[in-house]
Amino acid sequence: MCGEIIPYQYKVLNDEVEGIPPSHAIGNFQLAAGEEEGIYGGMLFQDSDVGKWIEAASYALDWEKNPLLEEQIDGLVCLMKKAQGEDGYLNTYYTCKKPGERFTNIAHGHELYCAGHLLEGAVAYAKVTGKEEFLHIMIKYIELLREKIGAGQGQMRIYPGHPELEMALYKLYQYTKEEKYLDFMEYFIKERGSQPSFLEKDSGFGEQFKDKWFGLTYHQAHRPVAEQREAVGHAVRAMYLYAAMADLAGEKGDEQLKQSLRALWDDVTGKKMYLTGAVGSEAHGESFGTAYDLPNDRAYAETCASIGLIFWAKRMLRLEKDSRYGDVLEQALYNGAISGISEDGKKYFYVNPLMMLPEEAEARYDLQHVSKERTSWFGCACCPPNVARLIASLKDYIYEDNEGNENLEKGLYIHLYVEGEMRFGRNGESGFAVEGDYIKNGRIRYTYKGKTAEKAIYFRIPSWCGRWEIRLNDERIMGGEADGERDEEAAKRLKKGYAAINRQWQEGDTVDVAFEIKPRLVFANPKVWADAGRCALMRGPVVYCLEEKDNGKNLNAIVVKGKEGWTLGWREEQGYLDGEAAISFPAEREDAEEWGNALYRYKKSARKEIKAVAIPYHSWGNRGCGEMAVWMRVE
Ligand SMILES: [Zn+2]
Repeated sequence: MCGEIIPYQYKVLNDEVEGIPPSHAIGNFQLAAGEEEGIYGGMLFQDSDVGKWIEAASYALDWEKNPLLEEQIDGLVCLMKKAQGEDGYLNTYYTCKKPGERFTNIAHGHELYCAGHLLEGAVAYAKVTGKEEFLHIMIKYIELLREKIGAGQGQMRIYPGHPELEMALYKLYQYTKEEKYLDFMEYFIKERGSQPSFLEKDSGFGEQFKDKWFGLTYHQAHRPVAEQREAVGHAVRAMYLYAAMADLAGEKGDEQLKQSLRALWDDVTGKKMYLTGAVGSEAHGESFGTAYDLPNDRAYAETCASIGLIFWAKRMLRLEKDSRYGDVLEQALYNGAISGISEDGKKYFYVNPLMMLPEEAEARYDLQHVSKERTSWFGCACCPPNVARLIASLKDYIYEDNEGNENLEKGLYIHLYVEGEMRFGRNGESGFAVEGDYIKNGRIRYTYKGKTAEKAIYFRIPSWCGRWEIRLNDERIMGGEADGERDEEAAKRLKKGYAAINRQWQEGDTVDVAFEIKPRLVFANPKVWADAGRCALMRGPVVYCLEEKDNGKNLNAIVVKGKEGWTLGWREEQGYLDGEAAISFPAEREDAEEWGNALYRYKKSARKEIKAVAIPYHSWGNRGCGEMAVWMRVE
């Protein structure tokens, strides 16, 4: 898919795709570099799209050499060098459009956010290609920021309005091993929430709204982060902040931060997360709602928020190996994150609701944020390059082998089951070939390649799976036998949800992991008003939905009757990922026809038996505009 997405996005950023509003993102750098004349275009954080694109393109280069792509990145780096100020400053909005206003709008100006995305791009490019020119440009800028910002005399005592630079600084620290970058990141994290907050005096605070949704909680700045226990405010900002907190907690072994992170994790995933791994249910302020406030139609559920949740989950896994983080990582990845991109890679959702009534989405004031269909690009285009960098860096999420940090658990942990290769050892000289199709049939085989070596390998047993087994060299060594949800007895033999095999591995050793993967109904806590009396359908980690295309209009008239007679169809037609299952099942449909013109009456609807068809939620909206529903009525 990267093969399509990355060149397409490059064209968009260069304003070369007809029929969509210009991005101006690269044009702004040309302007700042003095190569073009004109005026700045787009949002004030347009630079970040270029940073994210370079990051995604760098990961793609790690998959496969591509001289053209490398040339394109080098061209952008050349522009950045010219666009950079003498003092190191690099931001096209404040250079071209608001000269003299640097660092005056910290709450919403996104200067530090853009610096973070450019820095992440620079680190990724240096890591993959060894070329450090972009990195040196960014280090010069970071040194300017370090001079201006901090707790010292004459410095600005601030932190990013939108967290992002924190994660980027941690990556810079990991790459350069220079403590000063870790210290700078730590300063940002520890300073956030100190009172009185500088934000309240900041020119951008509250932006145009100046209402209670844009206060300190919006920025997760209402109290020091180590004291925060509930997820509040802007969901993407929260996810990026918590991810960076987890980076820091892992690096320093900071128990206070860990406590806060565990509580925040429980609050988000136990009370405020959609089944699809989407977060942020409130459109105004793009923020978390209260506990269990998870409306399906007016969900905000930004693609970036699911991606941020994946970033956070990955870092929680680094911090402590507990399969609940891996479960959520998988849930957000296969549902809320990739629903943000069409199957051809060229159309995107910003907002990911769990139901769609196109006429209402078009007409209602409170659904203005919802789009009926994926679109080719957005004026505010944070999501498309974000999903590109996630997909291009997927291999970083599949497994991890922590070496060299005493605060982290040792062993090779497998979080996701994806075909390919896993390498470990000092130079990656040992490893496993990985074959199988986890999403299709729940089966995957690991074959050891390399010198005989001792190693503990941990396999995540997903909580959705009751019946599973692990075979070592064709002999069953572990398994679960529950029908449906996880086998609690078997779980006691696991290490926080991971099955361990610790042995001397020899060339040709095989491990077969098999999970029973079948459709199952899921119910929501009754406190979730929107889902009361309803069920959803999942198969493995994949959430399903009904679409008008398969089931006709008025999906709400469909009532699920139980679990008999379900069949899987392997849909190959256009609009579906290869080999993905559609599930057809017997249901009943209330007959709207026999109501005539009545709006209300004293008798229930008549029903008829039907076959309903559900498809993976992430695939919805690939066959034209129509109704969609994840949560279905059930008896
Ligand atoms: Zn976004």
